[in-house]
Amino acid sequence: MQRLQAFKYEIMPTSEQQRDMRRFAGSCRFVFNKALALQTANHEAGNKHIGYVEMANLLPAWKCEFSWLKEAPSQALQHALKNLDRAFTNFFEKRADYPRFKKRGYGDNLRFPQGFKLNQANGRIFLPKLGWLRYRNSREVLGTVKNVTVSNRNGRWFVSIQTQREVEQPVAHGAPVGIDMGVVRFATLSDGTIYPPLNIVKRYAADLRKAQQAMSRKKKFSSNWEKAKTKVQRIHVRIANSRRDYLHKTSTAISKSHAMVVVEDLQVSTMSRSAAGTVEHPGRNVKQKSGLNKSILDQGWTEFQRQLEYKMLWVGGLFLAVPPQNTSRTCPQCGHVSGDNRKTQAAFACVECGYSENADLVGAINVLRAGHARLACQVNGEVSRQQQEPSERAA
Ligand SMILES: [Zn+2]
Repeated sequence: MQRLQAFKYEIMPTSEQQRDMRRFAGSCRFVFNKALALQTANHEAGNKHIGYVEMANLLPAWKCEFSWLKEAPSQALQHALKNLDRAFTNFFEKRADYPRFKKRGYGDNLRFPQGFKLNQANGRIFLPKLGWLRYRNSREVLGTVKNVTVSNRNGRWFVSIQTQREVEQPVAHGAPVGIDMGVVRFATLSDGTIYPPLNIVKRYAADLRKAQQAMSRKKKFSSNWEKAKTKVQRIHVRIANSRRDYLHKTSTAISKSHAMVVVEDLQVSTMSRSAAGTVEHPGRNVKQKSGLNKSILDQGWTEFQRQLEYKMLWVGGLFLAVPPQNTSRTCPQCGHVSGDNRKTQAAFACVECGYSENADLVGAINVLRAGHARLACQVNGEVSRQQQEPSERAA
């Protein structure tokens, strides 16, 4: 089977390269925002949506009008338009809000689909219009390089090398498992395994507050202010790193010991959005929900599910996301569904048969059941199609 994998390293650009990358990222942002403005005006005039190809055909004219655009790698500019196109697709399919204008320093990245050269022995990578860049070579890149993305995070630059390679189809092993994601416990498995919450932000909160206060006392843009700012950014990087480590360790452990993993389809993004609401329709329980959302974002549930999904694919296992209907209110013993079954956030006690258990474990068991039920439907669906075939031939 083909395995896609990204290898990420910190790069050590020269000051000239840093300047160029910032400039190129700015050009990409400019192109993205210009296309978005055009698309919006076009939409308001009641015209048809402009497709990617048509939009990309406008690039040469824009380069004439704004000659500094010519200095940026043209593939990176095209990729900015592709990003916008994808954002619109997500909007049309109701997976995301209407695309927003990109602000400086927010999500800056440059994609190179070709023209790169990788020299692993010397820890260098060549990128069009930037030249050779040194990177911290922490592990070997495996496979054929498909594309390269440069990104900036808190003032540090990273390169992500996406590769493809042929690997043997593995055979997953271990009993199927359902997972309940929570705030008190990060993850509860239907076999009783518990992963404690991460609460990374909480752990670093005091340090972060201290560093931010120190920064606010300094004169803005002075060298002491810059130093204090670096300290704040370092804490943010440390938070992001510990969160990533934890999520990777947990998702790896689970994918290695279970042939099938079922999770709740949480649609965290919709949950996050619904808390704040809109001006016309302010969200209900805004305060309570925003507290929950902060925890959700802190825990990285969506990222965790994303990792589980591809790691299950790697080990040849099965990953299912089921709608979370009644998973917290159904009795695993007698099947009785009632909100009264859930006594408190932590305790489940069936009002019908008296079965009692930790509520998160009950959730995980029900999630696994829902996964089995969906599989059964799929298998039956295939069987009935196969049965139809002979009769069709006979006719
Ligand atoms: Zn019961």
